[in-house]
Amino acid sequence: MSQMKNEFEQRVFDVIHHRLQCIDLQTIQINLGFTCNQTCMHCHVKASPHRKEQMNWKTMELILSVTEKLPSVCIDITGGAPELHPHIEKFLRSLVSQHHRIQLRTNLTILLDPLYKHFPLLYKELGVELVASLPCYLEEEVRLQRGKGVFEKSIEALQVLNKIGYGTTEKLPLTLVFNPLEPVLPPEQKALENEYRKRLAECYNIQFTRLITLTNMPIGRFLDVLKDKKPEYMALLKQSFNPQTLPSLMCRHQINIGWDGILYDCDFNLAAELSVTSTVPRHIQQFDQSVLSTREILTGDHCFGCTAGHGSSCEGALV
Ligand code: SF4
Ligand code: SF4
Repeated sequence: MSQMKNEFEQRVFDVIHHRLQCIDLQTIQINLGFTCNQTCMHCHVKASPHRKEQMNWKTMELILSVTEKLPSVCIDITGGAPELHPHIEKFLRSLVSQHHRIQLRTNLTILLDPLYKHFPLLYKELGVELVASLPCYLEEEVRLQRGKGVFEKSIEALQVLNKIGYGTTEKLPLTLVFNPLEPVLPPEQKALENEYRKRLAECYNIQFTRLITLTNMPIGRFLDVLKDKKPEYMALLKQSFNPQTLPSLMCRHQINIGWDGILYDCDFNLAAELSVTSTVPRHIQQFDQSVLSTREILTGDHCFGCTAGHGSSCEGALV
């Protein structure tokens, strides 16, 4: 047996007796870049209005030539704020013509900006599923995590989305995303969803399809905010290691494409600048489905964020 590279790899090996590997490619996650209208405290990619990194059209064309040949997969679009990408509409229309399921991560507030308020109807026309950040149903918590006025705008945007059918009809799913303000694990997903459903309906007449909970990863801006609480938080994540999460870890069922076309196991590895293993193609230009779908996953200490408690992924809890 070769030497394990880190503590996470060792913990995984102790359970499954081999290194973590990809099982299949159900999802192609595309990170369009780090430009965002917000500067959230927990942002793992440190997105902000000052970040200029954005995918160019050439890279988008390379992606489209790959997705064209793939069987139906889920295309998961993230950023930054995808709406701020100059080619987003053209890119979405091309993906739709390939008949993939498309979901897009929106921060909600951008949908009220006069320059971007046409997006809800565009998403509806194209059948794009929405995953929207709303880390609490309380104004103060959201203000502390995402900034002043974000809660009010998010509520207004959710009402706009409800009005056109998102979260109120089966065809237009609207997923809300919770992540904790403090360095603790998220509460149980279903119980929290019930609480959100009750509070948002009572106070704001808002409906949604489902709630997913995410654990804050000890990388990016959240790591900066943790400061001297980092050892305590890492200890919590490690103590909460749950082997039952291993089969569903998102890196085992997807590939992530960064704004510059570089391939990653997940968006957290992208933030940690840890591209896929050097034994496989590392850029979209050399995409090879059969090799990538069995690749070894590269891990680090931050991976304990995915295996803690009920587990965490871009699709929420794992068990
Ligand atoms: S968490 Fe989302 S909305 Fe907040 S800064 Fe990062 S990309 Fe923007
Ligand atoms: S951080 Fe990424 S590579 Fe690590 S376990 Fe989570 S999904 Fe897998």
